[in-house]
This record gives sequence, structure tokens and C-alpha cells, in this order.
Amino acid sequence: MAYDPNNIFAKILRGEIANKTVYEDEHALAFHDINPQTPTHVLVIPKGAYISFADFSEKASEAEIAGFFRALGKVAKDLGTEEGGYRILSNHGRDAHQEVAHFHMHLFAGKDLGRMIKPADK
Ligand code: AMP
Repeated sequence: MAYDPNNIFAKILRGEIANKTVYEDEHALAFHDINPQTPTHVLVIPKGAYISFADFSEKASEAEIAGFFRALGKVAKDLGTEEGGYRILSNHGRDAHQEVAHFHMHLFAGKDLGRMIKPADK
């Protein structure tokens, strides 16, 4: 599958769609999710054109990977979520219900997030 340059996050990166930016640097952009699932729900995306985590982990340069994950950690820290705790998550593909085909990590915080998977769901 080829990267679609018209996906919504590509448009955000080009400034064609507004976003509520939390942080930006050479490698990453972080902004509030439009439909937050928790009191704090931020998306962190790389600036490069990668479809999902699978694509990013295979093709991104060391500098992009390091820059992206350092940015993710900095965003979590600067939002003040370290003490209470947070969850980071990325959906890849159909079974994970990935909606936007530009790699992104969700950062959830601001309340008790519960266990990741309920024992009965296994
Ligand atoms: P995923 O299912 O992991 O691909 O998640 C995509 C996320 O992007 C969802 O949580 C959406 O609410 C969010 N989203 C979609 N469009 C926008 C937008 N224009 N600005 C911010 N977040 C968005």
C-alpha cells in the first residue's frame, strides 16, 4: 500500500487543516485529538510520510526514530502526565481499526485508564 498524501494528517502537516498544536520540532508534531477519549488525548506524528508503525519502524532514519520518540516523551512530560500516569498506543491496520494512514501515537491521560485489556477479553 502506498502512502496517500491526501490523508488528514498529511493535510495538517501542510497547514491545510487547522489543529490544536501542543508541540512541534524538526521530526514531530503533537496536537489534540479532535474526538478525545480521555481528558488528555494528544496525537504525536512524525513529519515524514509513513503509513503506520510498521512502515515507520522499517523505513525511517535513526534520526527520525530517535527524534520522534524523544518528542513523544517530552510531550508527555510537558503536559504534566508523568506523575499521574499515561498510556501510549498506536493502531496498525485493519484489526486495530487504524483510521488515518499516517503513523501516529495516541497519548491518553487525565483519569484512571483502567487495565489495558480486561481479563475476560483475552
Ligand atoms: P486511529 O484509529 O488510530 O487511526 O486514530 C485516528 C485518530 O485521529 C482518531 O482518534 C480521530 O479522532 C483523530 N482525528 C481525525 N481527524 C482529526 C483531526 N482533523 N484533528 C485531530 N484529530 C483527528
